[in-house]
Amino acid sequence: MKSKKRNIIGAICITLLALVALFIYFENTGYGNVVEFVPYADFMVMAEDGQVSRVLLTETAELQFYLYASDVPHETSNPRNPALKEQLLLMGIDVYEDTSIAVGGIISSFLPIVFFIVMFILIFRMMGKASGKSAMSLNVTAADETETNVGFCHVAGNDEAKESVQDIVDFIRNPEKYAKYGARMPRGIIFYGPPGTGKTLMAKAIAGEAGVPFFATSGSDFVQMYVGVGAGRVRELFKKARAAGKAVIFIDEIDAVGKTRVSGGAGGNDERDQTLNALLAEMSGFGSGEGIVVIAATNRLDTLDEALLRPGRFDRQVEIGLPDMAGRKNILNTHAMNKPISRGINLDELARQTVYFSGAMLENLLNEAAITAAKSGMDEIVQSHIDTAYYTIIAGSEKKDRSAIKDKERRITAYHEGGHALATKLLSPEHSVPKITIIPSTKGAAGFCVNLPPDKMYFTKRELENQAIALLAGRAAEEAVFGADNITTGASNDIQRVNQIIKDYVSKYGMSSTAGLAELSDEEKHKEYRLHIDKLYQSALGLVKEHFHTLESIASALMDKESLNEKELDEIMASA
Ligand code: ADP
Ligand code: ZN
Repeated sequence: MKSKKRNIIGAICITLLALVALFIYFENTGYGNVVEFVPYADFMVMAEDGQVSRVLLTETAELQFYLYASDVPHETSNPRNPALKEQLLLMGIDVYEDTSIAVGGIISSFLPIVFFIVMFILIFRMMGKASGKSAMSLNVTAADETETNVGFCHVAGNDEAKESVQDIVDFIRNPEKYAKYGARMPRGIIFYGPPGTGKTLMAKAIAGEAGVPFFATSGSDFVQMYVGVGAGRVRELFKKARAAGKAVIFIDEIDAVGKTRVSGGAGGNDERDQTLNALLAEMSGFGSGEGIVVIAATNRLDTLDEALLRPGRFDRQVEIGLPDMAGRKNILNTHAMNKPISRGINLDELARQTVYFSGAMLENLLNEAAITAAKSGMDEIVQSHIDTAYYTIIAGSEKKDRSAIKDKERRITAYHEGGHALATKLLSPEHSVPKITIIPSTKGAAGFCVNLPPDKMYFTKRELENQAIALLAGRAAEEAVFGADNITTGASNDIQRVNQIIKDYVSKYGMSSTAGLAELSDEEKHKEYRLHIDKLYQSALGLVKEHFHTLESIASALMDKESLNEKELDEIMASA
């Protein structure tokens, strides 16, 4: 963290300043001044001799006097004898009694102490802030306010996510506009997706685009050993953001605070509950006209406490997934901009080779290559530098990330998703298929095919059957291409959904021609479901076999580009 360093440097600066100030202070109080000290006996001789022009009587240990012969102040020991004044006056010497100096004397003896106390508190607070952990820093949050000069142009790819937060920027800029229409804008947004995909970057970009301060903190900073510390920090954070007027508050690792509560768990979670409650209370506390938005990030949405996701809280959830080929190319280009990359390097090819790399890994790849190049002393980053960096990163991440997913698995996914897309396009052309991809989703699927049915009140019997066939076409494509023994677990979600459709088809809507409208026994129901699902699966299998050539075209395009949009899919369908 940069802020720690800044705080420590700050503490050192203040200490130095304090030393200088103390030095000057002592200088001015006469400790280092040119004052000539005269023994008291000599002073009395000078006084009686008529050499002394005036005397300054004080309560301090020394008294000052001036001679007719010089402008330099002199000092002698103060006998603190009340009779001295009269004695001097009788000698015709001007005597001043300076009470302010008397008070000054008191102050001057206390000031250094006061000064040290203030210094001590200041330094202590800074250290507390820097470590962010000590119990003493109860009310100090780890949040740092930064102005961000990051904009959407720095976030490569992630186009869908960018689009779904566009309105937030406008809202932060002009909250009044939305308030006027009574629109309730999201107070909280959750970005979810694998690590390093640019969630923090995107939050920064929102603040940057809206031109407001960015307060960043992490959920783990809130969960402390001492009950109440986290809640205090949450309140402090929001206080700071409010003081700044409009702001974006970013909470990384929100799961540290908002994990699903384990029911019946006795104690232990008090601190987290208090923190979570403080967060929810603060979020419902600010009005929708304020222009403050809280953005939280997590790797997994499904582990979050539902209380966080309710309306008025984090009610907008945006997935930020791994980049596809085009996204990776964009990210590589962005980070190559400030580096002397040799002309011989083909970033398109590099994008192709970096399947399942996150944005952070791509950034790291180019950075490692740049370091290697710098060490080698060459003018440019050449292919061998990139290769070295590539293998370092692959080796380091093989297990954690899915960078090493075999081509075989990508092929299976491509045919599976291709099957869904093919069947949907053939049977339900009124549906839209905005996206089909073999990049794994955060929810755990190896790929997905978005299939949006048209908005309408009723679905016909035929339409329900076609939806079921499209769902089964993923598994059917696997069987058609790789054989019945090589079908995979990838269809589990499809199977669940088909079963639901068929249950409704038979029992709820009475659409089965064999069962009719009568109530069925459990055994009869089971037989009906089975009959229909088997029949629909055979239809799906027949369909993918009949249009096998088109299926292959879709699958190979997917393996090539990793994701296709509707237009690209339609082009393949038309040309096949
Ligand atoms: P997350 O918050 O999702 O873990 P970060 O936003 O911290 O990821 O990303 C880490 C770094 O990776 C960023 O600072 C940036 O350099 C790079 N990066 C990640 N995604 C992108 C992207 N879409 N465009 C450009 N750079 C990215
Ligand atoms: Zn599927």
